[in-house]
This record gives sequence, C-alpha cells and structure tokens, in this order.
Amino acid sequence: MTNPSSAADWTLECSGCDARRGAEGLPTVCDRCGMPWLVRYPARAPTVVDRAEVRRRHGMWRYRPFLPLAPDEEPVTLGEGDTPLLRLERTGARLGIPDLWVKDEGANPTGSFKARGLSAAVTRAVAAGAGRFVLPTAGNAGVAASAYGARAGRPVRVYAPRTTPRTILSQIAAFGGDLVLIDGHIGDCGRASRAYAAETGAFDLSTLREPYRIEGKKTLGLELALQLGWTFPQAVIYPTGGGTGLIGMWKAFRELRDAGWVGGELPRMYTVQSTGCAPVVRAFDAGAEHCEAWEHPWTVASGLRVPAPLGGALMLRALRESGGGAVAVADEVLARTASEATRDTGIDFSPEGGAALEGVRLLAASGALRAGDRVVVFNTGAGWLYRDPGDLPPV
Ligand SMILES: *Cc1c(COP(=O)(O)O)cnc(C)c1O
Repeated sequence: MTNPSSAADWTLECSGCDARRGAEGLPTVCDRCGMPWLVRYPARAPTVVDRAEVRRRHGMWRYRPFLPLAPDEEPVTLGEGDTPLLRLERTGARLGIPDLWVKDEGANPTGSFKARGLSAAVTRAVAAGAGRFVLPTAGNAGVAASAYGARAGRPVRVYAPRTTPRTILSQIAAFGGDLVLIDGHIGDCGRASRAYAAETGAFDLSTLREPYRIEGKKTLGLELALQLGWTFPQAVIYPTGGGTGLIGMWKAFRELRDAGWVGGELPRMYTVQSTGCAPVVRAFDAGAEHCEAWEHPWTVASGLRVPAPLGGALMLRALRESGGGAVAVADEVLARTASEATRDTGIDFSPEGGAALEGVRLLAASGALRAGDRVVVFNTGAGWLYRDPGDLPPV
C-alpha cells in the first residue's frame, strides 16, 4: 500500500482561527488556538456516477465522496450506518406533528451512533500509524472505541465515570477495553486521558480533539437526506452532549447543498438537553457565543452529561445559523417518555432518545415546530444499554 496520507485530497481548517494544515500525520487540535480542526474537501463537481455509487454501496462508507478516505484505502468498519428511518404515526398525531420520524441509531454496531464517529477516527489514526488509543467517555463512545480498537487489533484505554450505566461499562469490558473508573464527570476523565496519552504515546480519540470523529458523525445527515430521497426535513431534533452529532450533521447538510446534491432550505437544528446538565441551552438562551461549564452535572441520560463541551461555540453557531433552538427536559420526564415510547412504538428508546421526543412536544407547544413540518428526532442509542437485569419488575 502507498502512504495513505500522500493520497489525501482534503485539508484541515481551524474552526477558531484562520490556521490551515495538510492531512499528514496524526492531527489533534489547532496548535495556534487550541480549537478543533475541521476537514475541508476540494470543491469537486458531483457526478451521476458518484450518486449511483452511493446507492450501490452499503453502510456509512458508501458516502465516500464526502469522507476522508483515499481511493486505495479500506476503512476499519463493523457495518455501521444504514439505520432505520421510521415514521411515528400515532405519536406524531398526538403531538400535532403528523410528519414525524425517528432515526433509530440504536441499530448500529455497539448500540449507538458513536460507532460512526469511531469508525472514521480509528480508520484515520490507524492509517497514520497509531498503535494504541485512549479516550474519556460518558458511556457509549467507550463501547464503540473498544469495539473498533478490537477490530483494528489495537489496545484501548477507557476512562469513564463510576456512575456510568452498568450495562454500558460491561460492554466496554466485553469488547476488551481497558476500563478505568473515575470519581467525577467526563471532564475529569478527559484530564486522565490526556495524562495517559502524554505518558504512553496513546492517541487521544476525545470528541473534537481529532478531526475525524465528526466526519463519521456527518454520515447521520448524509444518510437522512438519502433516505428522504435527497431532500431535507424542516427540522432535526437532537439530544446533545459533546455536540459532534449536531455539528457533523450541520456540516453534512451544507456540503450536500454546496455539492448540488440536495436543494431547498437547510433544516432547522434543535438541541435537547437534560435540566441537570444544559450548558448549550443556557448559552443559547443568553445569546452567548460560548458555553460556560455546568456545575454539578447530573442526568440519567449519560450521553448528555457533558458540562463543558469543547464544541460549544460550533454548536451555538449551527443552532443560530439554521434558525433552530435549544430546550431542556427534566430527567424524570425524559426517562418516562423513553419507556412509554418504547412500549408504544416497538423502537428501543434510550433516555437521550426520550429527551429528543419530549423536545418535540415542547417545541410543538411553543410553536417552534408547525404541523406542516417534516420533523426527524434522533434516538441516538439503544435503550437496553441503560437497563440492568435487576430492573426487571416483579413477575
Ligand atoms: C454521546 C451520546 C449523545 C450526545 O451526542 P453528541 O453528538 O456528543 O452531542 C447522545 N445520545 C447518546 C445515546 C450518546 O451516546
């Protein structure tokens, strides 16, 4: 195989200043301002052949014209992507949003959309020669990193809060992740990860501390447009933690429009968080450009327990540019919504998915969502990851 980086036709642009760099080596964050790098592809005219290829292939790597993969490279993959987009007729009728859909990301390998980001990040890091990995996680990223590390034959150290749902912790261990529990939140796990990376040379896969996880998350938006016959919905409702899903989808929608693959208005992007950890909602409501760290973050929706997201400014930009918004939901409500929706629909809602669905109710009630809107909510992970065998009611 030729040196893959030499075949890369994309470059990296800093999201915080005007720094640029090539794709060589193992990029982390901008060395001038510390903000995340974003991938920029050369403007290429989309061809009929490209669209036909996307239809012919399977999984998230079918979108190669929009992904960081050189023509002679194969990705590290477990078959992620191609998740169901399902109409919620009864729920939509009840909420006054008849054209309501759910994208069920629990159908991915490892049970959450984190598979997409880690397939992309591990692919690029392995191509650049990384021998071992480390990451901090609120839960599901640790499961995905362990699985994709195993797929690539590389060891993975995972730092997770001790309070992470037990089934998620056991999945990390099952995939061979070297799990270390931390008394604290994901920010504390991040500090432990950076220390471990500095000490051992392990490559840090933290959210937005390398530029490729977000390229994998971008396929959420590419796939949604494909499944809607190369159109955009009016609104996307996304349960937000670190923000890569939101930032990635917004990047995807603009790239599809710029490439001429999809016309019409871009979707309005809405964030849903828990009232126990809502730094993005608070900053959005205050008109701020950055998120302040949330004190004492707590929510059962562990994927949303991110008190100081590095991508805060990028998220706020996406919400505002798209004409969307941000709402917070109390834990007991999002948990109840998830379990009711699971019984009502046969789709296994995670607490994060429950938050998104409750967000639809709030946004419809406030008039932000209208009856004529096509609305897509994301069930970002599978509900079973949050259940314990001990949760079985008396039978
Ligand atoms: C990580 C995670 C989230 C948050 O996603 P971001 O893209 O980091 O904002 C939401 N739901 C689940 C199930 C997650 O695992």
